[in-house]
Amino acid sequence: MDNPVRQSADSQDSGILVPQIAQSFRQLPISLIVNLAIGLILAAVLWNAVPTPVLLTWSGLLIAVTGARFLTLQAFRNAAPRSESDLASWTKYFLAGACAAGVVWGLSGMLLFDPGSFPHQVVLAFVLGGMMAGAVPLLSPVSHAYWCFAIPIVVPISIRMMWMGDRIHLVMGLMMVIFGLAMLATSVQVQRLFRDSEKLRRELFSVIEVEQALEYLVRLDSLTGIPNRRLFEEELSKEWARTKRNHAPFSLIMADIDHFKEYNDHYGHPAGDLCLVEVAQAMHHALSRPGDVVARIGGEEFAFLLPQTDLSGAISVAEQIRERILALNLPHEASPVASHVTLSFGVSSSELTSVSSAGELIRTSDIALYEAKRCGRNQIVAARKTASVVVA
Ligand code: GH3
Ligand code: MG
Ligand code: MG
Repeated sequence: MDNPVRQSADSQDSGILVPQIAQSFRQLPISLIVNLAIGLILAAVLWNAVPTPVLLTWSGLLIAVTGARFLTLQAFRNAAPRSESDLASWTKYFLAGACAAGVVWGLSGMLLFDPGSFPHQVVLAFVLGGMMAGAVPLLSPVSHAYWCFAIPIVVPISIRMMWMGDRIHLVMGLMMVIFGLAMLATSVQVQRLFRDSEKLRRELFSVIEVEQALEYLVRLDSLTGIPNRRLFEEELSKEWARTKRNHAPFSLIMADIDHFKEYNDHYGHPAGDLCLVEVAQAMHHALSRPGDVVARIGGEEFAFLLPQTDLSGAISVAEQIRERILALNLPHEASPVASHVTLSFGVSSSELTSVSSAGELIRTSDIALYEAKRCGRNQIVAARKTASVVVA
């Protein structure tokens, strides 16, 4: 059998785009602040070393690109895109921003390079190296973003350094290239890590979903689709604990189809199954209050938990259910009680003095049900009140 968890994780490979781009936009403010701050500090350091119009033009370009990236971020936040196609276009905007920033920083390697001042060259190389290193975790989550940013930076400064022709600049240019390549390789690893952790997150999420679905399914009766004995017992103990706390009574109705063995013998087991489904569904739909629960607790036996309902309230609910099932008019020619399917009901409530535990509640309902059977079936009997409430 196919493993649904693995299948869903594999098919999500392309869908990793969603958290990738969202994560990258979340990190963008840090990137923008650093770009602007470092750029302005660099401009201040190079103030007397580079012609002012060149410095101002470059600073203006940096501010314009940073501003445009900030506006893109705001638009992304406002749009809050969810669909894959929307996110794909936001990835393009993000990439364009990263490329534009890379080009501006790359231009600094040419325009702000002062051939006459070695210390200023070192500061420039240091800043560009730092920008490339700092961008690895910020840009790597989105495919190609880091490459778009780093390659336009590393190429011009390396060429400019080597262009100087002397040995020290040649070595510095070469070191810039090696450093750039190392950063690109690191970025690939970071992206792989991000993808792997995203895959794991998705797999974990699928496993949790499957577990939750199983948790739900093991509490349902496979034939009728209504809750089963397990859920009934859990709800009963919860309800009992709640009653102990707030002293509000709750009631239990046990219901059993009359002469169901004869039904099976007469119509066959598959027809008996269909009858159980119809009865269960009618019971389920007969309950109107949100906290009420009906469960199939045995072959043709059902239990109703009615929170915040006293004995007389539960008797009238039982009567409504009985009438609802009579209205189904399911033929039962083999029944000595009636020509259609009937049920007997035993009702008990936590308010009764004889009831001191959840087990007692079940026992008293069972006794009442037995009494209903003994008195001729197709009727409701309440615990400690042996008089039949309704005899059809
Ligand atoms: P009573 O009125 O005293 O309750 O008589 P009864 O025949 O209903 O009770 P009994 O306990 O003698 O028989 C219950 C029958 O319910 C026997 C069994 O074949 C049938 N039954 C139990 N579970 C299922 C089921 O899942 N499908 C079908 N078709 N029948 C079931
Ligand atoms: Mg029965
Ligand atoms: Mg039975």
